[in-house]
Amino acid sequence: MENVKPPKPPLVDAHLDLAHNVLDTGLDLTLPLEELRRRCTNGDLPTVTLPALEEAGAALVFATLFASPYHPEHNPEGYRTPDEAHARARRQLELYRRWADEGRVRLVTDRAGLEAHLRAWGEDGVVGVIVLMEGADPIRTPDELAFWADAGVRLVGPAWTGNRYAGGSWYGTGGLTELGRALMAALQDEPRVALDASHLSERSFWEALEHYDGPLLASHSNARRFVDHERHLTDAMIRAIGERGGVIGTVLYNAFLQEGWRRGDARPGLEAIVRNMTYVADLIGWKRVGIGSDFDGGFGAHELPEPLDRPADLRRLVEVLPADAFPGALGENWLRWLRNWMP
Ligand SMILES: [Zn+2]
Repeated sequence: MENVKPPKPPLVDAHLDLAHNVLDTGLDLTLPLEELRRRCTNGDLPTVTLPALEEAGAALVFATLFASPYHPEHNPEGYRTPDEAHARARRQLELYRRWADEGRVRLVTDRAGLEAHLRAWGEDGVVGVIVLMEGADPIRTPDELAFWADAGVRLVGPAWTGNRYAGGSWYGTGGLTELGRALMAALQDEPRVALDASHLSERSFWEALEHYDGPLLASHSNARRFVDHERHLTDAMIRAIGERGGVIGTVLYNAFLQEGWRRGDARPGLEAIVRNMTYVADLIGWKRVGIGSDFDGGFGAHELPEPLDRPADLRRLVEVLPADAFPGALGENWLRWLRNWMP
């Protein structure tokens, strides 16, 4: 890799499903983006590769371990048991480790490592990775949390759909289960891991906060004010995250920014992002607003606001955000949040 100093201020993207895209979708994310696009023939237009993130000046991404659960209609290939979920997440973690061994990314697991990484990033532009588990089924029992923390996981979102732990965004929107309460207790006692509230159902969100008062984020969640769905945050949920010092990452998927948007519809402009960010900022302040693009979360460039086409385009937000809010929203708010709690 050539050494080109990255553009500043740093970009931090709090939600990318990198390993899932490699291992489950078969994309080679080590390629330049144009090359990956040449190889994609299914009509999707991928937006993220490691070189594209480097070009964008991505100092840090929260990269997921994401195993999706079996569902007879929606996901027949999903995992059926906690052991299967565990095995899939282990493979994804191995991929991040391999990339780190190959010098393609740097894994960040503590505060000193974060500072060392940021210094190095300023010279070599290598992307930092913080590992985020999206959906906690790979934690087979709550006492396995320590294993995953030892392995480098720093953020855990208990749900995706409803699962053994908690009600989620899609099917299964109930509250915390007994196992979920035990997971909250384990998280409370594990200073290396923060709770990601994204995908928790509204009920499980409030129940989680009754059992947990450690560091909190919503890596990729928008305001329910604009898209009325369990997947998104009510004003009260946004305020609660703010009160606990959390940061909320805006998802850049059009259907999550604009009610009723469907694939093939005209793309909204960057103002759709600004509208969501401003709404959150009006409730809890610009210091609590970030990006959790989900750029590779099952959609491509056609599903992003115009003119976003790749991570580097996120710097165009400078044209539409308040000047003093831009560096924070682009990445510095996430860095401050990490510095506030990471051991
Ligand atoms: Zn997600």
